Parts: sequence; structure tokens; C-alpha cells
Amino acid sequence: MPRPSSPPVAHTLKTLDRTLTRFRAAGETVALVPTMGALHAGHLTLVKRAKRKAKRVVVSIFVNPTQFAPNEDFSSYPRTLNDDVAALSELGVDLVWAPSPEVMYPDGFATRVVPEGPALAGLEDAFRPHFFAGVATVVSKLFGQVRPDFAMFGEKDFQQLAVVTRMAADLDLRVKIVPVPIVREKDGLARSSRNVYLSQEERARAPALHRTLQACAKKIAGRRPIAATLAAGRKGLEAEGFAVDYLEARHAETLAPITSRRDGPIRLLVAAKIGTTRLIDNLAV
Ligand code: AMP
Repeated sequence: MPRPSSPPVAHTLKTLDRTLTRFRAAGETVALVPTMGALHAGHLTLVKRAKRKAKRVVVSIFVNPTQFAPNEDFSSYPRTLNDDVAALSELGVDLVWAPSPEVMYPDGFATRVVPEGPALAGLEDAFRPHFFAGVATVVSKLFGQVRPDFAMFGEKDFQQLAVVTRMAADLDLRVKIVPVPIVREKDGLARSSRNVYLSQEERARAPALHRTLQACAKKIAGRRPIAATLAAGRKGLEAEGFAVDYLEARHAETLAPITSRRDGPIRLLVAAKIGTTRLIDNLAV
């Protein structure tokens, strides 16, 4: 059997447009999978889902500088374009869109999309105040560049999914945002490009994050009080060596704080540092 060939990679808007024009002329639908690369099984699940949704699949790979604060890991973020393109070769991806920062943000660039609503829920935004404007701006640009019919986003970044869904509706972007469930390692740890930062010892402790969410969800579903359950969960994580940014119960759609199970469908969300690595996770109750 011949080896599947790698998808073509576009680095300029001109090359991107040439391919997209061909798809559109043939009346084909397009799904976009936005990523920052360092692809893992979570990303590949988004791609497989995209393939079922649309005739053509474009995967963007761009480590977006504007969503990192100066003290964050922009310069050390893993960049593995060749491996990423190879990993996509068996999945029927039609194009990889890999612009440079200069193509994305040419000289004179001066516009930001600043989301509100779910972007101000007091979760990631409380610890990464620059983050969602960076995400909303780059995702708007990707939507403008690719003009996809569908765009796949992982529930792993639950608040981001809510922000992008809101933005697409508010700005009439005519793209259907498709949520994709979290892909986990066997021991429950959510797959993440940042897991490579974990030492062996940290990696062994990291699944406590998911275990804690499961334990809290079970108690809350069993009518135990929410605040006390989360306080105990936080304490447990701290005892495991995590520095907890938040462990919260929120309304699964609005992300509004929730004090009672009657307030609506509940999503538990957590962010915590183990050593210098910050991990996030979430779970439905
Ligand atoms: P990133 O490259 O980390 O920006 O992620 C790109 C997309 O993949 C985002 O929509 C993420 O939510 C999604 N994603 C990352 N990790 C996972 C995972 N473990 N399960 C599902 N989706 C994921």
C-alpha cells in the first residue's frame, strides 16, 4: 500500500486563497480546526470530527503571540510543524494553514476583538487577563482568512469554546462552532500540548486533577452542598502539591456562578499549577 501523503502547507494568504477558491468553486464545504500545533490525540479527534462534518478540512497551526502574557510560555511553547504535518497525513486533511507572525500581524496591524460575556466569567480571564482578546482576535482573523462553514473547538478549553461561540453569533460570522469532547490519557489526564512540560514525578501526580473533578461531580450529583464539596476538592489538590487558581461550579452554558443544582446544568472547571506547568480541566455534573 502506498504511504498516505502529507497535506500541503500554505504559509501565505495567496497560497491559502488559491486552494480555498478551488474548494469553493466546486461547491465544497470547509471545516477549520484551529490549533497551536504540537498536535496530540485531542487535536486529531477534532480533525476526525471535521472530516465527518465537511468535504474539506483545513487545520491551522499558529502559536499566537497575542494570547500569551510576557511571563507566559510563548517562546518555549513546543513548535513541531514537520511532525504535526506528518501526524495529519493519514486523516485526509486538505490543507495546513501555517502563517508566520508577520503574515498574521503585518506592520501597522492595529485592531483587537475584545470579547465580553463569557470572556469575563472570572475563570481564565481572572488569571490571564490578556488571553481572550488575543484568542478572539486571532480566531476572527482565521475565520476571515478561511471563511469556514464549520469550526471545531475542544471542550478542554471550555471557556474559550463559550467565548468563540458567543463571538461567532454576535459578529454574524456565519460559521457553525462545533464542540468536541475532551480526549484524555488512560489515567484521566486531559491531553494537552503543555503535558510535555511535566517531569515524570509531576506527570504521575497530574491525574489528581481529573480524579478531583470526578469526585466533586459525584458528590454534587448526590446532593452534597456545592461550596463545601469544592472547598474539600481544592484542599485535596493542594495536599497533592497543586497551586489551585480556581475550582468552580458554573452554569454549563452561561458560565454564571451556581450555588444550587436547581440553577441549571453544572460544569465543574479547574485550573491549577503543578510545578511551573499550569493545567486546566473541566467536567459535566
Ligand atoms: P491548542 O492547540 O491547545 O490551542 O488547541 C487547539 C484546539 O484543540 C482547541 O479547540 C482545544 O480545545 C482543542 N483541544 C486541545 N486539547 C484537547 C483535548 N484533550 N481534547 C479535546 N480537544 C482538545
